[in-house]
Amino acid sequence: MIESSLRVLIVGAGIAGLAVARALRLAGLKPEVVERQPGPGAAEEGIYLPGNAARALRELDLEAPLRPYGQVIERQRFLDACGGRLCEVDLTRLWAGVGECRALPRSDLHRVLLSGAGGAVRFDTEVYALRPAASSVTVTFADGREGRYDLVVGADGQRSTVRALAGVGGPPRPTGLVAYRGVVIGGPPLRDWTVLLGQRSGFLVMPMGGGRLYCYADEASTRLPADPRARLRELFAGYGGPVPEVLDAVDRVHAAVIEELDPGCWSPGRVVLVGDAAHACAPSLCQGAAMAVEDAVVLARALTAAGTVEEGLAAYESRRRPRTTWVRNRTHDRDRTRDVPPALRDPLLRGRGGRIFEEHYRLLVEPA
Ligand SMILES: Cc1cc2nc3c(=O)[nH]c(=O)nc-3n(C[C@H](O)[C@H](O)[C@H](O)COP(=O)(O)OP(=O)(O)OC[C@H]3O[C@@H](n4cnc5c(N)ncnc54)[C@H](O)[C@@H]3O)c2cc1C
Repeated sequence: MIESSLRVLIVGAGIAGLAVARALRLAGLKPEVVERQPGPGAAEEGIYLPGNAARALRELDLEAPLRPYGQVIERQRFLDACGGRLCEVDLTRLWAGVGECRALPRSDLHRVLLSGAGGAVRFDTEVYALRPAASSVTVTFADGREGRYDLVVGADGQRSTVRALAGVGGPPRPTGLVAYRGVVIGGPPLRDWTVLLGQRSGFLVMPMGGGRLYCYADEASTRLPADPRARLRELFAGYGGPVPEVLDAVDRVHAAVIEELDPGCWSPGRVVLVGDAAHACAPSLCQGAAMAVEDAVVLARALTAAGTVEEGLAAYESRRRPRTTWVRNRTHDRDRTRDVPPALRDPLLRGRGGRIFEEHYRLLVEPA
């Protein structure tokens, strides 16, 4: 049983950092959270949360506060590039007894997590250096201040400074994908998560409540385009289904090079990595938020059950690694389907696509 006086610093107030803050507060600790951004911000994009994200949020008593936001998604539809049906996944059945799937604005998810974390985030604060000792870490912040902590949680994303300062892993690797995201107000009426699969590219669109659609598209590339909106329109100009209407309506488009990483160790001494800092991968299964919140739940549970911090961190890492490795491997499986020519792939998906795509979530239906 870890003392409630344990001094914990959480670096990063994204999904992982705020979820860890919430989980540790529920366990009776009073962690500090620092964030380099000047304020909470309001990411314009949407996010899709599968059923295991809802279950992890429920463990933090945050599922009910999230329920007013976004839209429940009951079905995934997979279409060919012309908009013809390939296969479907019944999400209500797949995630029965686990949780609802939901699409919502990221800013709403962030607001719920921030209030769950007690709102006590020190913004505009960046970590500059770590000095590890046997059972503590001295942290120097960019403004020159110092603090001594019993545990530092690196929740600072895929390009984690904490990870680099702790000397584990290298920089993330490009996956060979560039992703495009945008939000459309109005657009075609849609109830389902709907993806159109082309040759080495795909276009996903889903409703997220309030008459808004969230769209995510990707292409096999490693270079950011100069004008993401123009490139999106060029890439998907020949697509059918809802795509032409979405392309007409989309205004601001953000592009990102998608990277992944697999540092050999997540808990060097009194430092521990969570969320994208530990296991970022391509968002093809939409598991980033779910994995981050599950990390938080398991970390708090492991620390509470352990006799020492070291035992707790070892238990956390050994519990989480198989699951995040599964997500990365299934993500690779899914991404490989984009390299198969549609003339070969589409008949297979018409026959067995539903079962293939459901299988990607098999382990994740089980509790974290
Ligand atoms: C295009 C795209 C689409 C995606 N779609 C989905 C989806 O639909 N569903 C889903 O579940 N996941 C999705 N993901 C993945 C998901 O966004 C991430 O897995 C998730 O945001 C990870 O959260 P995090 O808190 O670990 O990291 P981040 O969200 O990166 O948060 C890290 C935080 O740390 C702060 N920070 C960084 N460095 C420092 C420092 N030195 N000091 C202090 N603070 C610092 C940052 O400012 C940031 O606030 C998508 C990702 C991409 C790229």
